Amino acid sequence: NPVKTFEQAFRDYPEIIDQIYKQEFVHPSPIQCQSWPVLLKGFDMVGIAQTGTGKTLAFLLPALIHINGQTVPRSERSGPTVLVLSPTRELALQIEKEVQKFCYKGIRSVCVYGGGNRKEQIKTVGRGVEIVIATPGRLNDLLMNGVLCLRSVTFLILDEADRMLDMGFEPQIKKVLLDIRPDRQTVMTSATWPPGVRRLAESYMTDPFQVTVGTLDLQACKAVVQQVEFIEDSDKKERVMEFINDMIDGEKVLIFCSRKATADDLASDLLLHGYPVQSIHGDREQEDREQALEDFSTGAAPILVATDVASRGIDIKDITFVINFDFPMHIEDYVHRVGRTGRAGSTGKALTFMSRSNWKWARQLIKILSDACQVVPLELVSMAER
Ligand code: ADP
Ligand code: MG
Repeated sequence: NPVKTFEQAFRDYPEIIDQIYKQEFVHPSPIQCQSWPVLLKGFDMVGIAQTGTGKTLAFLLPALIHINGQTVPRSERSGPTVLVLSPTRELALQIEKEVQKFCYKGIRSVCVYGGGNRKEQIKTVGRGVEIVIATPGRLNDLLMNGVLCLRSVTFLILDEADRMLDMGFEPQIKKVLLDIRPDRQTVMTSATWPPGVRRLAESYMTDPFQVTVGTLDLQACKAVVQQVEFIEDSDKKERVMEFINDMIDGEKVLIFCSRKATADDLASDLLLHGYPVQSIHGDREQEDREQALEDFSTGAAPILVATDVASRGIDIKDITFVINFDFPMHIEDYVHRVGRTGRAGSTGKALTFMSRSNWKWARQLIKILSDACQVVPLELVSMAER
């Protein structure tokens, strides 16, 4: 039976309840209501729900309780109890932030990701940790070098499994799974339910519960107003500046470009015009990426230009606008980009530029817009009929 309140799930854990209320959460989200009873009883689970629905705490709180409930004393453990695998560095860091908020009773954590200080990560692992949050590449590196041992892992989380497969991490994930005892508890989250993710669930989980919130169709959030503008490539920059000029204090805009070069070019142009802008893409140093997210998050730079590395998983509060400067390469990315705004029940707005070269997306975009009860522009319909 799903829980209806935080108290029902965490009656015996007042520290957790306190922390939840500190964040001013009123009700558990639907995926949390369904997941907590399943996970607290020790079952495996696949959680499928669109972004921004609270999946992190859905798995994290049971994981922390799992750590507290274990009977093997610290001194006899050879490594962490909980392992969280994440597709990107940014998401991994964000999960760690959540862990720290709820880290009562001295649970120790480390975030292991490429681009981060490897020596520092190794040192932290060496001092002993209960929970490791990792991207697959750096994790394998530490495993191969014998720095980290997964023999004591009894709770495993694959966050954003669909994204990890999209990014080609399947071989690395499989390698990691070989090192973990088969009688562990396993949780997997995903925004979609494609065959690859299904296969992963069948091969590596034991009779998992499947909790699906919403439909399995690709769907964008109805709380986001999605607007499409037909524009020549050469006019996009000017239009972005117009848009930014209309923003008011406290608003934040996330602008997506398809290529790193376009992102760099747009960001430096905006900077030249005196706009407080930051950028994030795969070619920037890890330190710079973290700084960019920090500036955007605090509002020091309310404009963030990004490639799709930033499009999933990252949860920055109160993004008011998303602009698709370039139409994404995959229609799924459209939904994920748009999902960066309108999170946790707030409203948001997405503006998508379409140029002549984007006609092949028209049909799929029409479906997404009408499923989310949005206005479908006439131009889009005639584009689709071409
Ligand atoms: P997902 O992993 O499903 O994309 P997140 O776990 O990142 O979503 O959560 C999205 C946002 O919602 C976060 O800012 C988180 O703090 C917030 N959140 C989580 N649970 C609740 C809740 N029960 N009530 C309100 N906000 C919540
Ligand atoms: Mg998530």
